[in-house]
Amino acid sequence: MVAAKNYIAGEWVTDARGPEVRAPGNLDEVLGTVPLTTTAEVEAAVEAAARAQDGWRHLSGVERGNILFRAAAVLEAHVDELGALAAREMGKPIGEARAEAARAVSIFRYYAGEGSRAIGEVIPSANATTLQFTLRVPLGVVGIITPWNFPLAIPAWKMAPALAYGNTVVLKPAEWASLTAARIIELIGPLFPPGVVNLILGKGSVVGEALVRHPAVAGISFTGSGDTGQHIAQVAVERGAKYQLEMGGKNPVIVADDADLDRVVELTVSGAMRSAGQKCTATSRVIATRGIKPRLAEALVERVRQLKQGNPLDPDTYLGPVVSAAQEEKILAMIQKGRDEGARILAGGGRADVGLRGFYIAPTVFDDVDSRMTIAQEEIFGPVVAIQEAADIEDAIRIANGVRYGLSASVFTRDLKTALLFVDRIEAGMVRVNEETAGVELQAPFGGMKASSSHSREQGRAAIEFFTHTKTVAIRP
Ligand code: ADP
Repeated sequence: MVAAKNYIAGEWVTDARGPEVRAPGNLDEVLGTVPLTTTAEVEAAVEAAARAQDGWRHLSGVERGNILFRAAAVLEAHVDELGALAAREMGKPIGEARAEAARAVSIFRYYAGEGSRAIGEVIPSANATTLQFTLRVPLGVVGIITPWNFPLAIPAWKMAPALAYGNTVVLKPAEWASLTAARIIELIGPLFPPGVVNLILGKGSVVGEALVRHPAVAGISFTGSGDTGQHIAQVAVERGAKYQLEMGGKNPVIVADDADLDRVVELTVSGAMRSAGQKCTATSRVIATRGIKPRLAEALVERVRQLKQGNPLDPDTYLGPVVSAAQEEKILAMIQKGRDEGARILAGGGRADVGLRGFYIAPTVFDDVDSRMTIAQEEIFGPVVAIQEAADIEDAIRIANGVRYGLSASVFTRDLKTALLFVDRIEAGMVRVNEETAGVELQAPFGGMKASSSHSREQGRAAIEFFTHTKTVAIRP
């Protein structure tokens, strides 16, 4: 059992005590405690990051990159351990959690390389003797607020670019992913000068809020719910801080009559049910044209019934529990709403008994779903998928776009014309053809349209846009 602490200026500190953390997949297992930190420690963390700023930003990019390479190596030596910890703490199956740990390693390596790539461009001046160029400079202290659903990858894909481009960091992970975050920091923190990386654990409404409001925090990168995101945006705008938000999705797959049915079924079930549907890119709507819909519904249900649900630490488990009692309650309420509004349950529809005390919800498939229903509009963030019928591809795209979100979307078709129409018309930041809605590559930009994000992009080279300011320099001899 671990009593997690805050990491401030290179020291593990806190007087705060907090409740026990139990494994969502086995509530009889106590994993540790997470402190309910006070705002005084947030102040101390931000001050430490501010003090470390000058030294860190004045290392060369190559020097910072070398430290990030070492961080990648240390994480790589602990991939199995980190995967197991994440699986225990938030309940995703061990195979997925281990893959996520490996991804965190690759992310650190990618941004370590960024330390030696271009941070500006030369732009011709009207005056022949003037040298005009741009220079990317760090924001300063960056607050990083992360959710529990990717407890390894999201802290990595925000921290690594922030650090590579010369910012210092205060990380505030989700309450349900605190032990995993603390372990990451325990492994990599000592590689950095004190104060460059800091960790604050506790409640979002207390320490997250204090971090967002702190005048010395120049940028906030957030992934989480839409309501919290909007609130953070308001606070940030008021005090002129830069912000970046990744929020929800209501991601559709469109299935055309000519689609490869086996592939559709495998990738739709994977997109909807892995991690028990707790991904912002999870597939939550299947919009099928008339010719394929009955066969597809049947095949989806058959596949869903075969899924092995159980202990996330069992390597054969396809889907584990959801993360918490609150999430479980929210998802079950959504399922009930689907029933009440007239959708038909083809599989699942309630709690699952896997022989363990945990938050297990059976993978659920709804049919006869109408666009006006709540389950067709609102994010569920659980193992629930809704099948909708479309008259043709244009109708399917119209249905797909008829929600307030626009994160990820996929079409399954063998027809290039259908694929291109979809690519052109779909309102989504992540657009896929014959691919799963979830699972994007770390070197490519990630983000959504509409209410899914604040329109900036993360990952890959795109991260430089958020984590730096551009200086335009003109030098005349
Ligand atoms: P979820 O429903 O996925 O838990 P939240 O948006 O509540 O989504 O949480 C995402 C992250 O935002 C967590 O780290 C949480 O602690 C943090 N958070 C919650 N409320 C606030 C707030 N008022 N200010 C800053 N961070 C917050």
